[in-house]
Amino acid sequence: MAQKQQKLKTKRRVIILGGGFGGVKAALELAGNLNYKLTLISDQDNFRYYPTLYRAAMGGSKTISSFPLGDIFHDKDINLVNDSAVSIDRQNKTVKTASGKSHSYDLLVIALGVVTNFFNIKGLDKYAFGIKTLEEAQRLRDHLHQQLVEDSKPDVNYIIIGGGATGVELAGALPHYIRHIMKNHGLKRGAVNVELVESAPRLMPRMPRPYSLALARRLRRLGVSLHLGQTVQAQTAAELMVNGKPLDSHTVVWTAGVTCHPFLKQNSFALSEHGKALVDKYLQAEPGIYVLGDNADTPYSGMAQTALHDGAFVANQLVDLASGKAPKEYRAKKPIYITPVGGRWAAMLWGRTQIYGVGAWALRGIADLAGFHDLQPIVPASKRWIAMANHEESCALCFRKPN
Ligand SMILES: Cc1cc2nc3c(=O)[nH]c(=O)nc-3n(C[C@H](O)[C@H](O)[C@H](O)COP(=O)(O)OP(=O)(O)OC[C@H]3O[C@@H](n4cnc5c(N)ncnc54)[C@H](O)[C@@H]3O)c2cc1C
Repeated sequence: MAQKQQKLKTKRRVIILGGGFGGVKAALELAGNLNYKLTLISDQDNFRYYPTLYRAAMGGSKTISSFPLGDIFHDKDINLVNDSAVSIDRQNKTVKTASGKSHSYDLLVIALGVVTNFFNIKGLDKYAFGIKTLEEAQRLRDHLHQQLVEDSKPDVNYIIIGGGATGVELAGALPHYIRHIMKNHGLKRGAVNVELVESAPRLMPRMPRPYSLALARRLRRLGVSLHLGQTVQAQTAAELMVNGKPLDSHTVVWTAGVTCHPFLKQNSFALSEHGKALVDKYLQAEPGIYVLGDNADTPYSGMAQTALHDGAFVANQLVDLASGKAPKEYRAKKPIYITPVGGRWAAMLWGRTQIYGVGAWALRGIADLAGFHDLQPIVPASKRWIAMANHEESCALCFRKPN
């Protein structure tokens, strides 16, 4: 008992900012460690599983894209605070939140992710759809229904801006989903024009060329038109200006831009040219302040797998620190890239190995199960994974599973 009391007395306060991939992973790995008292501050009371959000926009189950932080931490000794971090006071070691409260820390972990960036392109903030939150995904889904049912014909063009993974995945799923709605509402099957605009000369330009070319072939086969090397200049309610030419559309989805959370700049962190926090070999931006996931300027920042890896690394680092061990150096982990593109097809890059087709699609399924299991024990993770096959529609006619 005396020993336990002594441990409690010396507990150090760790505050984790952000309840996403990095923050949740760090908290899960640290929870239960007797040397630390954990607080996780998140502006959402749900965790967002971004990789499946495009499915939620296309009639998929919402439970796979968003689940309560309370469920993840239900048996963990952690103080969950639903509030928005605004500023830090380095001298007094406190974090101030939007509700005006002040939280004291000994060690701080920052994992606040990214925010949408429209690069000041006129009209996008007003007219474009997004798929970064469940609410945005729902808005797009409602719009597709409303428009098809009211006008009894598809939009002239459905335009997706951004040839990154999200844009490619959405473009692969959209033609089928639109036809599904048309069929269920008894609409005459007409041409469905899905257009993808990307400013780089190829899709997912940071990937090897064969990967980009395979994605382009697949999308074209699904009937998607590609506008590569073309830039968007402005959007109005009825058209999008691309390379100086108007494209008629009431359905434009912006997937092309995100930028590091403004908290880092507002709190005077040293930033890289990419706007991410510069970190040392221990993922510290400053002594005692760790930055991870999308916020850290590391080689594979911008991927969920990296944020999970970083979260686990920082948690291990703190465990070692408490037991007086020498700190280990951070080693970036090369992610496995799997991009599903409509039906049972995906492209995969694992080291130097590239796989295309149903095999890669099956591996993506396994990767999603592993992703859920990173956050929850195997039983709830498997239930969530099984729910990936479910469909959720507010429209009774479309409730039937797409075939
Ligand atoms: C649509 C989409 C699809 C994606 N698909 C894939 C994929 O297939 N594979 C892959 O590897 N990666 C994918 N990614 C990228 C991946 O999701 C991110 O790299 C990952 O989420 C980064 O984790 P993070 O912890 O840094 O940030 P996040 O997971 O974004 O977590 C940040 C958290 O901070 C919270 N927050 C924000 N502001 C505040 C505040 N002021 N105070 C408190 N909390 C705050 C947010 O609500 C959020 O919970 C995708 C991203 C998007 C947007």
